Amino acid sequence: MSNALEIHSLMRFLDLGRTPFHAVQQVRTLLFESGFTELEESKPWMIEPGQAYFVVRGNASVFAFRTPMRFSPDTKLHLVGAHTDSPALRIKPNPSVYREGYHLLNIEVYGSPILSTWIDRDLSFGGQLVYRRKGERDLRTRLVDSNTVVRIPSLAIHLQDSEKDSGKVNPQTQMMPILGLGGGDTYFRHLLESHLEPGEDLIDWDLQLFDTAKACLSGLSSEFVLSSRIDNLAMVHACARSLQESPAHSSNIVGAILFHNEEVGNVSYQGAESRFATQVLERIFSTFQASRDLYFAALNRSFFISTDMAHAVHPVYEDRHDASHRPRINAGPTIKSSANRRYATEAITSARFREIARTANVDLQFFAPRNDQRCGSTIGPAIASQIGIPTVDVGNPMLSMHSIREMAGTEDHDSMIRILKTFFAQE
Ligand code: ZN
Repeated sequence: MSNALEIHSLMRFLDLGRTPFHAVQQVRTLLFESGFTELEESKPWMIEPGQAYFVVRGNASVFAFRTPMRFSPDTKLHLVGAHTDSPALRIKPNPSVYREGYHLLNIEVYGSPILSTWIDRDLSFGGQLVYRRKGERDLRTRLVDSNTVVRIPSLAIHLQDSEKDSGKVNPQTQMMPILGLGGGDTYFRHLLESHLEPGEDLIDWDLQLFDTAKACLSGLSSEFVLSSRIDNLAMVHACARSLQESPAHSSNIVGAILFHNEEVGNVSYQGAESRFATQVLERIFSTFQASRDLYFAALNRSFFISTDMAHAVHPVYEDRHDASHRPRINAGPTIKSSANRRYATEAITSARFREIARTANVDLQFFAPRNDQRCGSTIGPAIASQIGIPTVDVGNPMLSMHSIREMAGTEDHDSMIRILKTFFAQE
């Protein structure tokens, strides 16, 4: 059995966090359990010292923080962050396509999933419905999961043509799941309306497909976790659990910012390139009557740990990593750096993170890309440039990134939480 402490909490989080909206709902539940108060962006804020708050934007991004026991000119920010979204198949506004008697769902690819891994899986769909109650003006949203199982069937080997079916899947023509046989144009709408009460009118939706399979452990000593969305719900969970278990600091603001839309480049109303984080920070400082001069000075002294999963070395593709930078699963969290600033890590922020890990008694690994290989990116560069805060990019090593079924280490998860908790406690 794995000795990892947090793994069962993580597996439950992965199972329930089927879409970014569901993931934020899970975070909300964890925060409420620990006495956090939800603030609304549309109302004035009353913030007290030594208390815990969170703000949600677009139902898919969240900024949670604890105010210091005493706000002073020396107050600074100890922040961590992650992204709530994963590559997925999103249902288009006109969802029904009919072909050869089949009722298919019309999808749009979100981010860059390994498309072939979505084929022959038992899928379902969920997200949020936008509706209005009769007699009311404001639109409301409701989180939904369908019980309907849909499937994108592969083509039988006997019907494959070696030239036409060379393994590359066409995202427009070959990724439509079968909803059923027959069913008219209003069938899908009626399916969604069954989640509403009488007197509620469905206006729109934001829905995506997910795998119905649950997370599980594997390995000789249950050293691996297998699940959808490990990138990046594992880091969302690590950030949320660390903040949940850290008490208010004597003088620092500690917090976690979890952003939607990393998989499509961070530019949106609630992504890491948005004004979400800076607007929340400015409001926190202004409710403590701190000047803008003090706010900018505090940012300069602050630190941001941007957490996103990293690439572990693959046993049969080991040459895809630089020979000196091959993170292994359960050998510790990884500092990610790139000369071309695909990651925000600088020598000074890397050094700062190494010191925190040393205090937490956790071993680290290092990743830098090959010069002849494409390199991923993350929220770190957006945070460093938008908020103006020294930032390091780190993450736990994993395999099968962007597959519908990913793989990571159980020990690494505890290690990352230990580091983040140590960071929140530091002066
Ligand atoms: Zn990621």
